[in-house]
Amino acid sequence: MTEKILDIQNLKTSFFSDGKEIKAVDGVSFTIHKGETVGVVGESGSGKSVTSLSVMRLLQDTPGKIVGGSIYFNGKNLLEIPEREMRKIRGNEIAMIFQEPMTSLNPVYKIGKQLEEAIRLHLGYDKKQARAHAVQMLKLVGLPRAEELVNEYPFQLSGGMRQRVMIAMAMSCKPKLLIADEPTTALDVTIQAQILDLMRKLGQASDTSIMLITHDLGVVAEMCERVVVMYAGKVVEETDVQTLFSEPKHPYTQGLLKSIPKLGEKVGKLDSIPGNVPTPDEMPQGCKFATRCKFVTEQCWKKEPQLEKISKDHKVRCWLHQDTEKVEEMHKVGV
Ligand code: ADP
Ligand code: MG
Repeated sequence: MTEKILDIQNLKTSFFSDGKEIKAVDGVSFTIHKGETVGVVGESGSGKSVTSLSVMRLLQDTPGKIVGGSIYFNGKNLLEIPEREMRKIRGNEIAMIFQEPMTSLNPVYKIGKQLEEAIRLHLGYDKKQARAHAVQMLKLVGLPRAEELVNEYPFQLSGGMRQRVMIAMAMSCKPKLLIADEPTTALDVTIQAQILDLMRKLGQASDTSIMLITHDLGVVAEMCERVVVMYAGKVVEETDVQTLFSEPKHPYTQGLLKSIPKLGEKVGKLDSIPGNVPTPDEMPQGCKFATRCKFVTEQCWKKEPQLEKISKDHKVRCWLHQDTEKVEEMHKVGV
């Protein structure tokens, strides 16, 4: 197995308001290896963005706080280093792109200036070198008229072009890890495919690992080698992309897969999962998916299953698949 770039262990991030704790991320563990693209999927509110903001340590503008666990990046626990050191890693060794580039691009600065600032800060280039590198990056992400574009403002660009600028900015320092949080959700389908293609090519060219957050399993199938499925702040299934599509084990994953629209199907006919992610007040004591699960049993309400390894590269958090070996053993001896 190749080197681990990111190793998240038992991460817990909570939001505190009115004396109540909302466990947005509740004991999440997964790893990303060098050069690998890992998809993090789940419905809205499952804790995907909070996981990525925790890795970047970008929760200071929110009432959120990391309350437990560790995040090893290149062997170093990011939760134990001073902010000064974290600032050097952020945007340099770990870069991030968001759904809406307007929130990351400064509207009052020209495109070139913003790119150059990032490049100068992280690569230590002088003004001229930084400008040349900025233009080169804009060309690399397929933007036309790169030399003129550097003198334009973000609002003068389309959504797809702005996302390309964000990718240019994120990739300009050849990060070891790129975190992309719903990078194409706001774009139309054709542009979405182009942006994903671009990310894949750039990622491969610079051996960048990618954490790709999405609620779209189509994007996962296109882009990822491994998939982490999240539900209500927990990982419920983790496996390679082929296994996820051919043998999904968690009822939630099975529901997500069924809700992918098939060619020619009307959106109204989607077999999506009934119900919603429970609010913190309604969170069941046992399995968090119990309120929506077709296979729910008494045990599921009482006790939460562990994320259990069911084969070499497959983990599932579901009572249907707990202790498989033991169950099989029992069948063998005729219990
Ligand atoms: P996802 O990205 O999977 O849609 P998030 O990670 O953004 O979900 O959010 C997970 C949960 O964390 C939310 O359902 C909410 O309860 C809580 N949360 C996220 N951001 C905030 C915030 N700024 N203030 C309070 N609670 C938040
Ligand atoms: Mg999100």
